[in-house]
Amino acid sequence: MSKVLTERMKMPTQAVEERICNFKEVNLGYTLEMAQTEADRCLQCKKPMCTEGCPVSVKIPDFVGAVYEGDIPKAAKILKMDNILPAVCGRVCPQEEQCEKLCVLGRKEKPVAIGNLERFVADWERENIGIASNASKEKTGFKVAVIGGGPSGLSCAGDLIQMGHEVTVFEALHEIGGVLMYGIPEFRLPKEIVQEEVKALEKAGVVFIKNYIIGLTETVDELLERFDAVFIGVGAGLPYFLNIPGEELNGIYSSNEFLTRINLMKAYKFPEYDTPMLSLEGKTVAVFGGGNTAIDSVRTAKRLGASHAIIFYRRTQEEMPARAEEIHHAIEEGIEFLYLVSPLKFNGDSNGWLKSVTIQKMELGEPDHSGRRKPIPIPNQIEDIEIDAAIVAIGNGSNPIINQTTPDLNVNKWGNILVDSETMETNKPGVFAGGDIVTGGATVILAMGAGRKAAKSINEFLKSKKWNDNNNIVSLPEW
Ligand code: FAD
Ligand code: SF4
Repeated sequence: MSKVLTERMKMPTQAVEERICNFKEVNLGYTLEMAQTEADRCLQCKKPMCTEGCPVSVKIPDFVGAVYEGDIPKAAKILKMDNILPAVCGRVCPQEEQCEKLCVLGRKEKPVAIGNLERFVADWERENIGIASNASKEKTGFKVAVIGGGPSGLSCAGDLIQMGHEVTVFEALHEIGGVLMYGIPEFRLPKEIVQEEVKALEKAGVVFIKNYIIGLTETVDELLERFDAVFIGVGAGLPYFLNIPGEELNGIYSSNEFLTRINLMKAYKFPEYDTPMLSLEGKTVAVFGGGNTAIDSVRTAKRLGASHAIIFYRRTQEEMPARAEEIHHAIEEGIEFLYLVSPLKFNGDSNGWLKSVTIQKMELGEPDHSGRRKPIPIPNQIEDIEIDAAIVAIGNGSNPIINQTTPDLNVNKWGNILVDSETMETNKPGVFAGGDIVTGGATVILAMGAGRKAAKSINEFLKSKKWNDNNNIVSLPEW
């Protein structure tokens, strides 16, 4: 019997006029009743295409079925088998490009709201029964160092502790979570949620050492003297700049610096917190870029009082890599979009403060290597636009500190660590890597998937290490 088509359950949100004045989460989440109604739309396909679209193959129809039955603990258990951070992924994964894109319902109507259901289940678990913190009772005695407390490091640490190994995470910053803490703003991902996940790992026995920069405080080679294996998950935190004249003027930030000052250092609460920030009240703020970082920056500028918060993008909305939901929310919030423009130079006043940007108008040509139509300058279409502040959000590269202090580690010309894509092993025995430091800037779910893959290989490596050391195979807990 075929199901009657039903409307996708809308995600309740904070009213626009309220939310542009605060940093609280925009999406408010489903109630149980809403979640069950949405779960009822799922056709429980025998060959679920949605699961094929999920980078970590979450058993989507199974967890959605459990939501429909109202058995949320069961739904949480199913989700956690493949995704250790569902509260995060339910909020930030680009579902419209992954599971929801392949959902068969999407051929005739809107796909099942898989991300919203994932978020509901994770929030319900956290609020009602607490996040389960799993650790193996059988200890192996092996010690693993994880460098970086972002999604790749956390998921690697989470699996390794369950396998019975001792795990220490070394993090350069004073908070654990990587981009989840310093990049993605509170209005998209409340920091409390990330910290609850970190606490669950701590409870399971993972040791976190903050303010510890591998490459400065201690090198990878030094770590290898006191640990049996090392995982490098240091992300891609080095901002790219436009490299145009005037970029050194006062009032121009990289998106990394801007978002870190706001999210991690709470500059918007200055002087209560001691990080200052240029006041954006009543100012015109230009953000250059079209990805999640650009949209996060421009929506943050709006919340800081900018009278005009404008995205400058050299292609059109269709080619923007940011998540569709974030673009939609940005439009609702009154963010302005200037498409088909590329900055040529920044112009300043005699005191070195930014005054305007000179832009070149563009048109779209043939598709380039990324498959998107290439922006081409239109001759003689150049214009000056007055702006008070600029945020450059055109991507990030790898920080060279690990590579420079580990010269025998193989990296490509952009500084990304080279690994075997099946095992995440580097060329250095006992050293594994994953996440953005390997792929370049990607997504949370891919970083997590890489961390888990590495944990599995580290477990295998440690088994063989035991064999070599003692000439005797020990049985390690199954993963
Ligand atoms: P990171 O999250 O970068 O974590 C690396 C950690 O390593 C950091 O905490 C860093 O301080 C630490 N570290 C670095 N060097 C050292 C060192 N030498 N010693 C010790 N510690 C070190 N993805 C999505 O899927 N959806 C989104 O909506 C989304 N929005 C984004 C918004 C912004 C503003 C940004 C910047 C990225 C966004 N991404 C999004 C991308 C996603 O966040 C990243 O792909 C993901 O966080 C990568 O995880 P990671 O563990 O590899 O690195
Ligand atoms: Fe349900 Fe869509 Fe997955 Fe089919 S493809 S099982 S309808 S979520």
